[in-house]
Amino acid sequence: MTTLNNLSRCVADYDPEALPVAAAQAIVRQWATPVTSAEHVPLRDALDRVLAADIVSPIDVPAHDNSAMDGYAFDSAALGTSTPNGDGPRTLELKIAGKALAGHPFDGKAARGTCVRIMTGAPMPAGCDTVVPQELTKVEGETVSFAADAVRPGANRRRAGEDLAAGQPALRAGRWMRAADIGLVASLGIAEVSVRRRLRVAFFSTGDELRSIGEPLATGCVYDSNRHTLFAMLRRLNVEAIDLGVVRDEPGALEATIRSAAANADVVLSSGGVSVGEADFTRKLLDTIGDVAFWNLAMRPGRPLAFGRIWSGARAGDGHPALFFGLPGNPVAVMVTFYQIVREALIAMTGASVDPVPLVGAACAVAIRKRPGRTEFQRGIARRDAHGQWHVTPTGSQSSAALSSMSEANCFIVLAHDAADLDAGDNVDIMLFDALV
Ligand code: AMP
Ligand code: MG
Repeated sequence: MTTLNNLSRCVADYDPEALPVAAAQAIVRQWATPVTSAEHVPLRDALDRVLAADIVSPIDVPAHDNSAMDGYAFDSAALGTSTPNGDGPRTLELKIAGKALAGHPFDGKAARGTCVRIMTGAPMPAGCDTVVPQELTKVEGETVSFAADAVRPGANRRRAGEDLAAGQPALRAGRWMRAADIGLVASLGIAEVSVRRRLRVAFFSTGDELRSIGEPLATGCVYDSNRHTLFAMLRRLNVEAIDLGVVRDEPGALEATIRSAAANADVVLSSGGVSVGEADFTRKLLDTIGDVAFWNLAMRPGRPLAFGRIWSGARAGDGHPALFFGLPGNPVAVMVTFYQIVREALIAMTGASVDPVPLVGAACAVAIRKRPGRTEFQRGIARRDAHGQWHVTPTGSQSSAALSSMSEANCFIVLAHDAADLDAGDNVDIMLFDALV
């Protein structure tokens, strides 16, 4: 068996005491194998699912040449026959032979010297290849006139198959289906699509101090927020989220939870119990029923992280396997490690090919202290000024326990591994939380 420890050593920069974020991401990437089974779902249910097969267009879209404007369709050969108009522009005069509306084509063929009144989306009448927009024309009775120089042959005609050609893949397998894709498949007249099965992700919190909502809060206790944050983050990825509740800091309870999680899920996420001092019994347990490395990531927040494989059986390799991420306990660290380390793995496991989250350059409004040798993800509020320049200000407290900093923020300020202290006005990378579609 390839063990995680063997594999980790093959990665450049491997240092279990301070593993660079990029190195951790590279290791995780190698272990994130996609689910393979697929199912057919009605088109609308395919939103935020991953296509299991290419969608080949059964038709041309648009199906016919049609007009891009409201105006008059005619044969561009007529442009050469326009009559000079004194010193002014050459004018073309055409008789209106009929009309073509969207859904109501013109049946005949436009004879020489005629045109067809046409509305946007209506099929181009036989014998016509050009549309003059109505705002360029003068209409008197049944005659339309316009400056011949104002239109080029073929203008304002959309070609059949211009959007999608019959027989060509319209969307590729691995596509994460977004709103435009749902509409695009609908435009092909396809009612059902084949998608990969949803990824199953089980999650639980650990800690004797944790109380669930509805329970009284004894001295020294805190409400378990991580499980709810994890649920919400998983929901956004449209995976099947399996909530396993709170597990006490006790080896028997932890073993039972981890084994049943591995039996039922592709990925298991825990929070808490991986920091120095707390990790000992977790580590011992996972040495038996898993192949899990305990990392100190060169990252802030989110230093302690356990990553590897676990099995549902009594020993590593027995029973159903699952990928395991032991996230830190601090609420902000949970979110940062989820977005920077876990998210990409989950997306890869859904079978999707998704581009990396774009970074945007911004001027930092204040000086920031930063030690080289770790990547920091501060919480920031970014805004774009009238000149198109982005500016970012860190939210108040950057404590990894202060969830309010995540709630207020609209971006991560990404301070690169090698970066040192920054002065006000220096350029930083930001990762905006919200994308449009
Ligand atoms: P740990 O990593 O278990 O030592 O936890 C680090 C800090 O995060 C401690 O202050 C915990 O009380 C807090 N914490 C751990 N788990 C949770 C949770 N599920 N919800 C809120 N806070 C938590
Ligand atoms: Mg704990």
